Parts: sequence; C-alpha cells; structure tokens
Amino acid sequence: MSRIALLPEEVASQVAAGEVVERPASVVKELVENSLDAGATRIEVLIRRGGNSFIRVVDNGCGMDRDDALLCLERHATSKIRTGADLMAIHTLGFRGEALPSIASVSRFRLTTREHGALAGTEVIVSGGKMEAVRDCGEPEGTQIEARSLFYNLPARRKFLRTENTEASHVEHVLQLQAIGHPHVGFTLLNDDRLVHQLPPGQTLRERLRDLFSTALVGELLDVPEMEIAGVRVTGLLGRAGVSRSTRQQQIIFLNGRPIENPTISHALREGYHTALMKGQHPVTFLSIEMDPAAVDVNVHPAKREVRFRDPSLVREVIVEVTRRVVESDRASWSRTFAAPARPQPVQDNTLPLIPPTEQFALRRDWSHFSAPAEAPAAAPVRDASETLPLSQTNAAQPLPAEAAPSLPFVPSATAPAPQARPAQDFKFIGVLGRLYILMENAGGLVLVDQHAAHERILFEEMRRRMEGQGVPTQRLLLPITLQVAPRDAGWLSENLDALARTGIGLEPFGAGTFKIDALPQFLSATEPSQLLRDIIDELRDTSQQTSKLRLGEDMIAKTVCRHAVKANDILREPECLRLVQDLIACELPYCCPHGRPTMIQLSYLELEKKFGRKA
Ligand code: ADP
Ligand code: MG
Repeated sequence: MSRIALLPEEVASQVAAGEVVERPASVVKELVENSLDAGATRIEVLIRRGGNSFIRVVDNGCGMDRDDALLCLERHATSKIRTGADLMAIHTLGFRGEALPSIASVSRFRLTTREHGALAGTEVIVSGGKMEAVRDCGEPEGTQIEARSLFYNLPARRKFLRTENTEASHVEHVLQLQAIGHPHVGFTLLNDDRLVHQLPPGQTLRERLRDLFSTALVGELLDVPEMEIAGVRVTGLLGRAGVSRSTRQQQIIFLNGRPIENPTISHALREGYHTALMKGQHPVTFLSIEMDPAAVDVNVHPAKREVRFRDPSLVREVIVEVTRRVVESDRASWSRTFAAPARPQPVQDNTLPLIPPTEQFALRRDWSHFSAPAEAPAAAPVRDASETLPLSQTNAAQPLPAEAAPSLPFVPSATAPAPQARPAQDFKFIGVLGRLYILMENAGGLVLVDQHAAHERILFEEMRRRMEGQGVPTQRLLLPITLQVAPRDAGWLSENLDALARTGIGLEPFGAGTFKIDALPQFLSATEPSQLLRDIIDELRDTSQQTSKLRLGEDMIAKTVCRHAVKANDILREPECLRLVQDLIACELPYCCPHGRPTMIQLSYLELEKKFGRKA
C-alpha cells in the first residue's frame, strides 16, 4: 500500500510559511526588504496590536503590473533571479520568491500596487492562501501590502505569538536595523497610531543613529574612513576604544545592505579592538561591508541572516585592519581632551620610584619627545642615563656616562609617538584618592587617572616594543619551578613557547603535562610564577578561537604579565604621578589599559554643575 501523497498546494505553502513567517516581525522584515529591492525611497509601516492583528507596509517603489501582481503570490515566483547561476551572486535582499505566498497563506492578505506612470493599479485579495478578488484600483504609485489576523488559520502557530508589546518590540527592532542599513531611505513606523519613528530620507548614518538612539551614542562613534582592501569595501561607524556593551545588540553589521550575524566578523572585530575592549564585552559597531556578491553565499538560512564567505580569512583581515586603524586614529582627539601635564621637577632621591625596586623594568623617562616635533631624528637620543636606568640601580641625581646608555635595558623606542608640548597649566596635580586614583585638574574640570590601568598600559606597550626588538630581558630563576597542567592547557602552552620566550618567560616541556619555568621577565618579581602561568593559560584559552594566533598569543601573554607586574596601592608622589600621566599620553592607545578598561576619566564642570543642581 502506498503511503506517500503530494501535499495540496495550500498546505505546502503553510509548511513553507513556517520557515519564513515566524511572527509579525518576520512579515515586516520580508515586506520591507521587498520595498527596498523595489527601489523605494519612503517606506511606511503600520502595525496594530503588535502586528498580531494588522500589518501594513506602504512604499513608493517601482510597483507591479497586473500580471506580476498575480504572479508574485505564486510560490517560487521572483523577479530577482532567473537561473541557478544567479544564485551564485545575489544582488538583492530577496531571491527565493517565498515571502509573499507564505504571508498570504497564513493571513488575510491584501495587495495594491501601481507601476510608475501606469493609469490604474491592481488590487488582489487573498485569504489563507485562497485568491478572493482581483480588480483595478486607484492607489498611488508604489505598493501597499496588508496582512491581517496573522496565523488565523494556524491556531498552533498563533499560540506561539507573545504579548503585543513583545511582538511590537521585535517589529521595531527589525525596522531599526533596516533603517540603519539604509539611511538614505525614509522610514515611518506607527504602532496603534502612535508614531514610533519618523526618519526622513537622505540622512547620513550619523543623523540616522542620532534620530534612532541619541546624540550621546553618536558622540561615542568614530568614522570609518572609506576603505577598500582587496575588493572589500568597509564604511560606517565604530565605537571608540573603551566603548562597549555587555550584549551584541549594538554590534550591527551589514553585508551588501543585509544585516548579518557572522562569527568571523565578530572575532575579527574583537581582534581589531584588541586591548581596547574589555573582556566579556562586545564592541559597538555600525558597519557596512560591500563586496562582490559572488564572493559570499547568502542562501544559507531561511531568514537570510547568516552568510558564508568564500574567503573568510580575507574578510577577517580587512575587518581587523580597518578596526585597528580607526581605533588608533582616535588618539589625536583623546590627547586634546587629556593634554599632557607639565614636565615634573627631576625626581628627588627620597621619592618612591614608580616601579618597585625589585623591578628592573624602567618606564620611559625620556621627556625630550614631549617637546620635540613629531619628525625628531630617529637616532637613539643621547640622554642623561638616569632617565632610563631603573631608580633602584643608580643614584638618579648622578648622571652616568652617556655611552652607558645603549647597554641599559629599555631604551625608549625612537618610534614612540611624539605629541606636541603643552602649556604647563594644562594639568594641575591635586592628589591621590584611595591610593589608586590620581586626581588632576585640567581646563575641562576634574581628571581621574586609574594608576594601575595607566601603569599597565605603559608597561604593555613598552613590552610589546621590546618583543619586536631583542625581546624582553629575562632573569634566570635560581630554582626552576615545575608546573603540572591539564592536557588541553599543555597544548596552549606548547603552541606558544616561542611567544612566551619573547615575553621573557622561559618554559620547557617536561613530559606528561609538566612544564619547567626557569626564567621570568626581569621586572617581574617571581612571587607567584605558577599563578602567572595559569592566568596566561586562561587568556590563551579565551583567544584560541581567533585566527591570527601568533601576534595574539604574544599580546595575551604580555597583557597578563603586565597585570602581574603592576601592584596594588603603590603610593605615588606628585612627580611620579605626572610622569605616569605623561608616559601614558605618549602611548599608542592611551585611553584604556591592555584589558580594555579606561585609564582616565574626565568629569567635566558641566557634569559637576548638574550633580550640584546648579544646572538642569
Ligand atoms: P523575492 O523577494 O524573494 O523575490 P517575494 O515573495 O518576497 O520574493 O516577492 C516576489 C516578487 O514580487 C518579487 O520578486 C518582486 O518582483 C515582487 N514584489 C514584491 N514586493 C514588491 C514591492 N513592494 N514592490 C515591487 N515589487 C514587489
Ligand atoms: Mg522578498
């Protein structure tokens, strides 16, 4: 007995609809995509009761003639692709020819449409997939689609609809995404006759985001300069260093106009932000990526949110590069806010050194580059050797012969950025709060510096420069330490032995998950080497998914080492504080510590006035 039967067309459509139409928001998404594909410059969306009872999308796009208005309701009827080969390079948001028949099969559906310049339009009425009427109508040019009583004929589905408010917020999210992806198109959203958004056409991305969110958000964003690398064009806005969210909600990426979620891109963004992003946080991005549609497969997921790149590593590299450049480009404006403090008086013998005496890791003590123009000669400057020698090793007041300088550890890199000199009044030292926060006054108000975060950033950059050169000087341990680790962790360590060596950590596999530590960076007091290694393993594990392991491994190790080198509650005096701030400002990425936390906070007079109720 044969048991297989072809489903009636109506049922087949409802089955297909299950994939495309999940809730009111998916109807809105498909209809708005159609309007965008039709070249609309204005799109109006109206929903009632969260879209459960009524959805209408009106556009001023190209419209359809009578034949197309009928044909568009057939399954797999589309004007966007013709052959299998077209699937290889999709230039439109839609391509499957499934949305309209799906929506029409699970709602009471009405379509009116008129082509530009046509005398009359066409009205088509469908109920639960059954055509009920076709007639001429006098609607304006463009297309208007209504879907009432969604899932009225599919009670099982209807049960899954959430409250009106929840459904409405999903609709709003869908519309926001499209509005961000197409700032040149005007969008209106009405919810039960309440105007939610009215976004004029022809906006820039910044204007659009300001209208959708806030001026404050826009102030946190940096422009991505027009960049095209190997056929991949990236535009949009990226959050400044230190700006992040605990969810990915504001990590918005468009690929050829389509909002997408893609792990390759998420990882590349993290990698690009690198030390400018806090652990566990997500960057804020509004990026548009344009590339040859043939280099990407969008036919992966019914909702078309997932894509596959033909060459994921190219995309990754481009995103990493763009992000890195943009985040670093922000340096100038940061230094404007936090102008370098005045040059401190030479440190007296009785002041505490910035780094505890056991640490031979000298911070840059070369003040000359603060006053020198950016194009100062790159040759190693002849300096008072006390500037580079750790204070613990020499009497700072007594200069060593100049020729001693090259052999000293950590001669400042000649490539360090050289900010312009600032007037002495820019920063006034006030004091230290809670043995941690340096308080300073500048033209804008109060500046708070997190002493540790600043110190970590300075050490990190110094260490990275060292790693690019001869490597970080190490100190052999008198008594090597052995450490037993889990097999998977042994893998991370073994893969990174070279990187560990460059950061000054001497590690040798000793068989069966055992390692021997026989050297550590000089500046690191070796109190807890095994804890340090465990922290390093944790960091490496976290970053193992990212692809450019080499550089990343090194940086991760350096980050962890710096954290261990920086001790809590070192008491700093005024000259040391000023020196710390100056060293910080000379960093490549001074705004945040290597773990992405801010190093400095400005509390403006305006904010203070608000807090004291002087201003509204
Ligand atoms: P797809 O978008 O995948 O082609 P749809 O079912 O969403 O499939 O739409 C079918 C066809 O109907 C489209 O290819 C397009 O030609 C036409 N169409 C749909 N919506 C509109 C619209 N708003 N304006 C003009 N044409 C439209
Ligand atoms: Mg479509």
